[in-house]
Amino acid sequence: MNIDILLTGGTLPNGQTADIAIQGDRIAAIAPEITADPETVGEIIDISGDLVSPPFVDPHFHMDATLSHGLPRINTSGTLLEGIALWGELKPLLTEETVLDRALTYCDWAVSMGLLAIRSHVDTSDETALVGVRALLEARERVKPYLDLQLVAFPQDGFFRAPKAKDITLQALDMGVDVVGGIPHFERTMEDGRRSVTELCEIAAERGLLVDMHCDETDDPMSRHIEQLTYETQRLGLQGRVTGSHLTSMHSMDTYYVSKLLPLIAEAQVSAIANPLINITIQGRHDTYPKRRGMTRVPEMLAQGIRVAWGQDCVLDPWYPLGTADMLDVAFMGVHVAQMTSPAALRQGFEMATTAPAAILGLTDLGLAVGKRASLVVLDAADPIEALRLRPDRLLVVSKGKVVARKERRDTDLALPGRPASVNRRRPRR
Ligand SMILES: [Zn+2]
Repeated sequence: MNIDILLTGGTLPNGQTADIAIQGDRIAAIAPEITADPETVGEIIDISGDLVSPPFVDPHFHMDATLSHGLPRINTSGTLLEGIALWGELKPLLTEETVLDRALTYCDWAVSMGLLAIRSHVDTSDETALVGVRALLEARERVKPYLDLQLVAFPQDGFFRAPKAKDITLQALDMGVDVVGGIPHFERTMEDGRRSVTELCEIAAERGLLVDMHCDETDDPMSRHIEQLTYETQRLGLQGRVTGSHLTSMHSMDTYYVSKLLPLIAEAQVSAIANPLINITIQGRHDTYPKRRGMTRVPEMLAQGIRVAWGQDCVLDPWYPLGTADMLDVAFMGVHVAQMTSPAALRQGFEMATTAPAAILGLTDLGLAVGKRASLVVLDAADPIEALRLRPDRLLVVSKGKVVARKERRDTDLALPGRPASVNRRRPRR
């Protein structure tokens, strides 16, 4: 057979060694050894001993705000609420060109890290936000050959609280934004929050769209919009199509109530996204000590069979002064905060940055299997646990059958008496 790219000797996430043959934009074969006449192979790439994984997927991001850190000023309190106010100051200053330029730059970073699909919320609170909507719709088209960008209509200032948010959110959906979002905990009252969940889910049901709401991103144990979200999911028959993002109030909720809540989330097949880097830095800001960490109850949800993924949320924006587009940074923080340190839990922590978020986005075409889309990443690590530990270089990134990023392996030269001339931090083989 004609093979465009043949990867030899890679280690799959399950530990098996395999060759992978790529034809066009598809994975044509995966086998312990693929023999082919070199004449019929476009390129043979030796990846012996390196982990080959499905691409990273970020299910929760804000691309309209990314790389704007410091504009027009920085967030001095570090809180969610000052970040929202700061974003309100920045929005009237945005142009389509600058938002598009920053989005495309971020996508370059993403590709270099093997991050090939991103779900980004885009503000739909008022007319000024439409600049971001238009810019990200353009960005979605520009990156389509190599990155899946899915957009969520997100009335950041409140679906009812901001006077134009409903009109602008509907307009954004008419313009082609993919998913319905919301922010019930930011509405004026608990009751308005509840109504916003109901109305937004009805809009999604009418239009046949997915739902992903910022839900209960607060330290208030009484913020319980996730309960309403599971109720509306059941009532409207949206099972499997709805996601609750953040769910940080669950960190502070009464444990008896959580024992009722988790089965409701599981029954409605609502997915959950924790954003560990952001949750750990934004939540608990009003506490003295002990200081709550804010991240939702990840291991407990996994134990209930709820689909949970890690999201990046922010990189260099009004809410977060750090970030690199590396989903392994996100997963690394996540497994620490969630205390997921057993071998099985660490492997699950890796999947929460690859296959689990792909399922939330509905990207059924991703994965290392014959016939699936030829999108993958090769890491300078032996297995998923080592990848989490090292957050290593991405040696090769293939998207839709094309090599889109490469990096040379580079050990550190040493000048030590009686020691080797170079070192890397991979685990010594026994
Ligand atoms: Zn967010």
